[in-house]
Amino acid sequence: MNNEPIIAIDGPSGAGKSTLSRRLARALSYTYIDTGAMYRSVALAAQRARIDPDDDSSLAELCDTIRIEFVRGGESDRVLLDGEDVSSEIRTPENSLLTSRISSRLPVREAMVRLQREMGARGAVVLEGRDIGTVVFPEADVKFFLSASARERGRRRYEELKAKGLEVDLDQTIAEVEARDAADSAREHAPLLMAADAFDIDTTQKNIEEVLEEMLHVVEAKRLSAAQFKRNGP
Ligand code: C5P
Repeated sequence: MNNEPIIAIDGPSGAGKSTLSRRLARALSYTYIDTGAMYRSVALAAQRARIDPDDDSSLAELCDTIRIEFVRGGESDRVLLDGEDVSSEIRTPENSLLTSRISSRLPVREAMVRLQREMGARGAVVLEGRDIGTVVFPEADVKFFLSASARERGRRRYEELKAKGLEVDLDQTIAEVEARDAADSAREHAPLLMAADAFDIDTTQKNIEEVLEEMLHVVEAKRLSAAQFKRNGP
């Protein structure tokens, strides 16, 4: 493990990634990078500019011109698109579906991976996404793959949207979560895959605190073995 480690957290939507990544980063005093929010911001920008989701050259140009930033603060980080706070707007069900399409395009992936590597280069970071441990940082110090049954993931997403005051239907939300996962897993570029060296955690029957504790144990064990490795030499 480096002095400034990189932690990768991947998995399908609704597996608890966002909450756990944020909590883990806070517990370790690391920076949290929500890569899904970056793809969501590109999708919103594309929709506003009326760009066809299959038009790669316009998407490439768009990625070159927009600015995506995170502003740290309090309970939740804010996402800025060209200086505008789009944190809520990028979380609608419509944007989720469009993001799944936009994020499958190669120029979009290349631009976002470049940005994510820049953001994470200094280490002491938790990056959350679909391809962090496989593509963005294959040499990450610790990799987690969080999963849960499709029904449970759909139910969590439904509760989340309802709490925000959105009118949602449980069965439809489950179907949307499944459709998005199928698209993310089947796409040609950087599909959702578990890295061979990732810790696989099924969160279906576990609460946040239980999973967080498990993750902190894994990080601590890695830290100890890295320190030992350094002392004893290869
Ligand atoms: O994590 P979140 O649900 O916000 O991600 C939204 C969408 O962004 C995913 O469904 C996926 O299509 C895309 N994504 C991706 N690669 C990442 C993170 C997110 O393709 N590293």
